Amino acid sequence: MKILVARITEEGSNYEGNEPAALLHAEEEQFLRNPGDVHYKVYAQRVSDELVVRGELNVDVELQCSRCSEFFSTTVGVSDFLRACPAPESTDSVDLKDDFRGEIMLHVPTFPLCAETCKGVCPQCGADLNKGSCTCKKEDGPSAWSALDGLNL
Ligand SMILES: [Zn+2]
Repeated sequence: MKILVARITEEGSNYEGNEPAALLHAEEEQFLRNPGDVHYKVYAQRVSDELVVRGELNVDVELQCSRCSEFFSTTVGVSDFLRACPAPESTDSVDLKDDFRGEIMLHVPTFPLCAETCKGVCPQCGADLNKGSCTCKKEDGPSAWSALDGLNL
């Protein structure tokens, strides 16, 4: 997203719109795919030799669940976007594309979950335990928990 510096009014200007998903370079990310357009709503103001831009960003994406490895749809939102870009007198425009990308990537959760209740996969057979249980546990012998079940209090 390019802001034409000369067009910004003295009290600052508001910008709202969509940037193509391509700016995210999702193809370089293993855990993120199918991004939608990046929606931005920012306020830009010239402060001496800088352009100060603040606002919010939102993008619909698919993230890979850190427990079950399935992709799920979610929205990554940045509510506190803030950048001060150098914009001396001769500056025509300031391009915020890379700043948008950087900030959105920072807001992608490190361990995304498709649901708080996601059961993940069986560490032995890899079966998705959200889709049903596997038979591994039975072959595992009695666990510490089943020993507790046998306690007669
Ligand atoms: Zn999951």
